[in-house]
Amino acid sequence: MIFRHRKRYIPITPKEAPDIKKDLWQKCPDCNKLIYEGKLKENFKICPHCGYHFRLTTKEWINLIVEPGTFEELDANIVSVDPLEFKGPKTYKEKLEEERKRTGLNEALVYGRAMIGKTPSVLSILDSNFIMGSMGSVVGEKFVRACELAMVEKKPIVSICGGGGGARMYEGLISLMQMVKTSQVVGKLKKTKTLYISVLTDPTMGGVAASFAFLADILIAEPKALIGFAGPRVIEQTIKQKLPHGFQRSEFLYQHGMLDQVVPRSNLKQTLTKILTIFAPSQ
Ligand SMILES: [Zn+2]
Repeated sequence: MIFRHRKRYIPITPKEAPDIKKDLWQKCPDCNKLIYEGKLKENFKICPHCGYHFRLTTKEWINLIVEPGTFEELDANIVSVDPLEFKGPKTYKEKLEEERKRTGLNEALVYGRAMIGKTPSVLSILDSNFIMGSMGSVVGEKFVRACELAMVEKKPIVSICGGGGGARMYEGLISLMQMVKTSQVVGKLKKTKTLYISVLTDPTMGGVAASFAFLADILIAEPKALIGFAGPRVIEQTIKQKLPHGFQRSEFLYQHGMLDQVVPRSNLKQTLTKILTIFAPSQ
C-alpha cells in the first residue's frame, strides 16, 4: 500500500527513537576501515576489506570449532595466588579481579573435553583477552593437565593459542618456570605418540611462543597473526635495522618453513576435522 494521502510529518521524539548502541561499528586495527558489527560477526570476525582476523573470546572459539553442546570444561576454578605480593599502579590481586569481571573467565586458559568433528578431543584455549593471554602458574598448570588428560584418555589435543603477553610479569620467575613445565609435558606427548595440534592466533609472542605453542606436531596459524619472541619494534631498536615487510606475520613464517599451514578462520573447523580424522581416527 502506498501512503500517498499521508501529508503530515510526524517527528520521532527522542523517547521513541531507536536505541543505537555506541559499539555498532568496529575499526579494523590493520586497515583502519570501519566495519559494521553485524557484518563482522557474520564473517567469522574477519575484516571484509583486508582479511584481518579479529581476536575471538574463548566462547567464540568454542562455538567456532566444537560440536554444539559437547564442550566439558575442567578445573575451571583454579586461580592464581599472588606469590610476589606484586605492587604497582594496581596490585596483582586487583588486576586479576578486574580481568575476571571484564572477561567472565577465572584465568587466561580454559580446557576440557570436546568433540571436534567426529573426534573426541581435548581442547585448550589461551584467551588473549585475559591479561594478554600471558602465562602464569595457572596457565602452565592447566595446559599440563590438558596434556595429561589427552594421554590418559588417548585423545588428540588441540591448543588454540593467543598469548600476546608471553610470561606474566606479575609472577616473575614462577611464570618463566611454566615455559619449562609446559615444554616437558609436550615431550611426554611425543613419547606417548599423542597428537598435538597448535593453532596460533594474533598475537602469540614471548614465553608462550618460545615454549608449548611452537612444539606441536602440526602448526597452524591464522592469516596475518603476529607470532614471534620479541616484538618487531624491540628488534628494530636493538639491531638498528629496518625489518622486512610482513616480518613475524604468519605468511612470512610459513614462507620460511616455520609453520605447516596458514588457515583462514572460515576453513579452520574443516581443516582440524580433516587432520583429526586422518591422524587420530576415533575408536
Ligand atoms: Zn581490515
